[in-house]
Amino acid sequence: MRTEPLPLTNVSREELAGMVQVWGEPAFRTKQILQWLYEKRVSSFDEMTNLGLSLRQRLSEHFSLARPELVKRQGSKDTTQKFLFRLHDGRMIECVLIPASPALYGEASDRHTLCVSSQVGCAYDCKFCASGLAGFTRNLTSGEIIDQVLETERLTGQRVNNMVFMGMGEPLANLTNLLKAIDVINAPWGIGIGARRLTISTSGLAPQIKKLAEQPLQIRLAISLHGATDAVRERIMPVNRKYPLARLLEALSYYRERKKQRITFEYILIEGVNDAVEQAHLLAQHADRLGAKVNLIPYNTVEGLTWKRPTESQQEAFLSTLKRAGVAATLRREKGHDIDAACGQLRLKEEQSV
Ligand code: SAH
Repeated sequence: MRTEPLPLTNVSREELAGMVQVWGEPAFRTKQILQWLYEKRVSSFDEMTNLGLSLRQRLSEHFSLARPELVKRQGSKDTTQKFLFRLHDGRMIECVLIPASPALYGEASDRHTLCVSSQVGCAYDCKFCASGLAGFTRNLTSGEIIDQVLETERLTGQRVNNMVFMGMGEPLANLTNLLKAIDVINAPWGIGIGARRLTISTSGLAPQIKKLAEQPLQIRLAISLHGATDAVRERIMPVNRKYPLARLLEALSYYRERKKQRITFEYILIEGVNDAVEQAHLLAQHADRLGAKVNLIPYNTVEGLTWKRPTESQQEAFLSTLKRAGVAATLRREKGHDIDAACGQLRLKEEQSV
């Protein structure tokens, strides 16, 4: 029986080397194949002209070079662009390309950030986020994570040099595939984005944070905190019942201890929920203890949800409480709000209509 060819991006270098050996090919073939895949980015095995015909034949029997199919693209070349992709099983995912922003990163910035999804849907049911509204469907494979980079680069002709795992899904709930993808994304023979330019964002899965602390790359970690006490956090993030604040903070100090690396707290400001000055004081204490910085994000409207962002003066008051306490904090102005590409707005409105 013939099985479906496996996307080649789903295969690690070690796995590929194993195949090459089993096929009786010299070891350097692995490097050549990876060059065609990630450097030259060919779309057919026939183009891999320095490989023998029989190897090309074998590769095409076992593997495919097909990528997710673009269903919809929103935004313009110079601004935030959102891509909706259909996966091989018909499921949809989105990713967002955020071009260099002098306002955010300084005049000389050449930063092109890609925000990628790690799952189809999300199981964590945060009460302010669009991605969880339809529930969880499945994990993305490592290849599907990598393909988001390759395909947006092909479509835009732009190289991504900064990545945030802040699209749909909970990356740490898909840790094995995530780390397998990051291996390729980070490798010089792969996509070649430095670990310090990769940020994983999590709703706070304490055990997985500890696991992440054990792996060697200097990937950045962002925590979606959104509440400085259990009472506030639990109201909007059910995950807090499983991993209450004390347990999360303990995992973070372990991470900090091992990695010697600065953590970021993301904190959405939602009117009347988590924007009181007392929360700011407590948040400042948590941040101070961990040496973390804080990214304040005014809540983005999600259709069907009734939360509101606080007034600008309330946002500024929250920010200045943090700053007065000596915490490095910023108040983010969202990009892509108008095309529902901002944080928490990724969901599959199109799914029914396609
Ligand atoms: N599950 C991971 C990855 C998703 S990241 C996590 O929770 O971190 C998505 C980011 O957008 C998170 O910081 C999330 O809290 C934030 N977000 C979700 N809904 C939002 C909304 N309506 N407005 C602003 N930010 C939102």
